[in-house]
Amino acid sequence: MVTVSNCAEQQPLVMQHTLASEVSCMGVGLHSGASVTLTLKPAAANSGIRFVRTDLEAGKNEILAEYQNVCDTLLCTKISNEHGASVGTIEHLMAAISALEIDNLLVEINGPEVPVMDGSSAPFVFLIESVGLKEQDAPRRYIEVLKDVSLELDGKAVRLSPAESFVIDFSIEFASEAIGKQRISFDVSASGFKHRYSKARTFGFLHEVEHLRSMGLARGGSLDNAVVVDGDRVLNETGLRYSDEFVRHKVLDAVGDLYLAGGRLLGRFTADKAGHQLNNMILHSLLEDQTAWRWAYKAAPAKQESNVIAFPSKRSRHAASYDVAAADVALATATPAE
Ligand SMILES: [Zn+2]
Repeated sequence: MVTVSNCAEQQPLVMQHTLASEVSCMGVGLHSGASVTLTLKPAAANSGIRFVRTDLEAGKNEILAEYQNVCDTLLCTKISNEHGASVGTIEHLMAAISALEIDNLLVEINGPEVPVMDGSSAPFVFLIESVGLKEQDAPRRYIEVLKDVSLELDGKAVRLSPAESFVIDFSIEFASEAIGKQRISFDVSASGFKHRYSKARTFGFLHEVEHLRSMGLARGGSLDNAVVVDGDRVLNETGLRYSDEFVRHKVLDAVGDLYLAGGRLLGRFTADKAGHQLNNMILHSLLEDQTAWRWAYKAAPAKQESNVIAFPSKRSRHAASYDVAAADVALATATPAE
């Protein structure tokens, strides 16, 4: 890794981005079944990703999307604030926000759960691309992993290690022949999320869905927004979107969950059979050890002609816009602002 001290003062850095304008969608929550409206709004530089429950009292309804605010990881990732306001199932939206490199965003929602849409991140990618991004007047801070941090729990394991980009290496193993053993490695910093991962849907077993329903959960769940496995069979008539859709969805979840670090990670995340709980626990382990990480800045690869990044409809031009963001750049470090 190329580390250049005081580089921040000498060359332009990768800058923060927000949405170019606001955009909304409607849908139902996977577990609550409640119909909600979600509105994504541009937000000021250095303000991060913030959820606002517009159905709750102003002043007590804002929740910063950071790992310390995660209050539940049993079925989804849920965040809450000190006033008891919470938003559940944020991970698929957070994955789209992370993969499309949005630093600052206001997420207004008039209910307790982000709409499940089709069970993937694709609808949120579409929503964000429909308005595009805007560059902001502040450099993006990265969280550079400096040493290995690892955790094991109930036969599941996760590790964060130093790396030049943000890489996720995920393995899963299920007795069901419909899933079996699957493993994939993805460089999140490069292009590819939209076509190779964003369409991967959440999944569950039929007996689990029935059990959740009996507990009053998964009320909004159906074959329209989840892959449902019964024994060795996928029940969805249209089959899978990727042959290894299950592990790709686990990668998608990790992209979303790990963006709760409060900045983009520069490191390798290795996970074996992990889920939302370990994704959150490893962030606590990393960020609460001051010797395990530091803030870093990246030198900008090339000047954008405009400060609005459009997402044009032609695939070839998509690739070009992603390549600019993902170009190999020297890593510069600077003293954190706080
Ligand atoms: Zn998921």
